[in-house]
Amino acid sequence: MLRNIFMATAALCFAGGALMTAPPRADDIAERARKLHLSSIVVDTHDDTTQRLLDGDFDLLPRNGSGSIDIPRMKEGGLAAIFFSIWIPSKINGSEAVKHALDQIDAVREQMRRHPTETTLATTAAEIREARKNGKIAALMGVEGGHMIASDLGVLRSYATLGVRYMTLTHSGNDEWADSSTDKAVHNGLTDFGKNVVREMNRLGVMVDISHVSDKTFYDALDVSRAPLIASHSSCRAICDAPRNMTDQMIKDLAAKGGVIQINYHVGFLSQEFRDAEKADPEINKAISAEVQKRCGEKEGCQLIEGDKITREYVEKGKLPRVDWTKIIEHIDHAVKVGGVDHVGLGSDFDGANMPYGMEDASKLPKITEALLRKGYSEGDVKKILGENTLRVMTEVERVSREMNAAR
Ligand SMILES: [Zn+2]
Repeated sequence: MLRNIFMATAALCFAGGALMTAPPRADDIAERARKLHLSSIVVDTHDDTTQRLLDGDFDLLPRNGSGSIDIPRMKEGGLAAIFFSIWIPSKINGSEAVKHALDQIDAVREQMRRHPTETTLATTAAEIREARKNGKIAALMGVEGGHMIASDLGVLRSYATLGVRYMTLTHSGNDEWADSSTDKAVHNGLTDFGKNVVREMNRLGVMVDISHVSDKTFYDALDVSRAPLIASHSSCRAICDAPRNMTDQMIKDLAAKGGVIQINYHVGFLSQEFRDAEKADPEINKAISAEVQKRCGEKEGCQLIEGDKITREYVEKGKLPRVDWTKIIEHIDHAVKVGGVDHVGLGSDFDGANMPYGMEDASKLPKITEALLRKGYSEGDVKKILGENTLRVMTEVERVSREMNAAR
């Protein structure tokens, strides 16, 4: 015992000067964090504000009293690039799904057209850096769910032409060619056509996103894809046992092929306690859904925003546990320990999920930088997590695309 204590002390001392010198004052870290955050390229790979645009009464330019995203709050939070999700529920498919997707792509592009001083549409890592230099927020698009291509590679190509730069292979239900993590497996992962979708995405330079997919679909995509994959909005299953979070082994395997897991801030994916409470009383979710329906009808954007609000009301009443934003840091730190600091990023799920206390909107993002510095992360490593890792994957995906096109 004594010997162990001695060895531990010796090891600590040996670990070097950093531990022996006075720790930096809290204020120093806060100031360093602020500067670091504002000089970094912060990229968020998943945001559901698109649904609000479709409701018809929302615009990105003014500060909004509800939700998480608008131009003033993105600026305040130092958000340099944001991927707007193009999403409709898995139950809608075929040509109806394509029509919805095109409407959403148009709605995002229209916002960029209306606000050219503040934003710009970007499709490459270089364009994100350029936008940043020009003081503009870079807007990108990801299609969330392969059902929206209606099993047609021509539709996928059209989306790419319009600027879509990732596609999540499934949403919460299976599509015609891939199994979802939250549906009964029917394809044993990716079908042959599904594998062709991945190959075509590689050629087009559209990132392959494995958030939402079943574990087998993930491994099939990892096997087929020539470019690194992303998990645009997933967290760690070791901390919160949600089927659409990633196991440690999956994080390691994703990282080994150069990919990035972008941590999702949704309380039901961050906190086991929250998940257990939801499971223990299914009536709560039913009541929340009924209230959402009452307030919003069929307006999807409204539903997502009100769902978050009503969930908070249940937390305030003590019916669901309160989840703090620091849980995000716990997941980031876990993913870094498992997969390495080059393979973790941010994918908030803002305006589409229930946000933890202290991370209500994009203006709160600098807290992540400060928390990581306080944990002892180097400035270079923090920059990687904030956005450089995602930019690296984009660059690599673009390189693979060029290579495949040249080979034809
Ligand atoms: Zn999602």
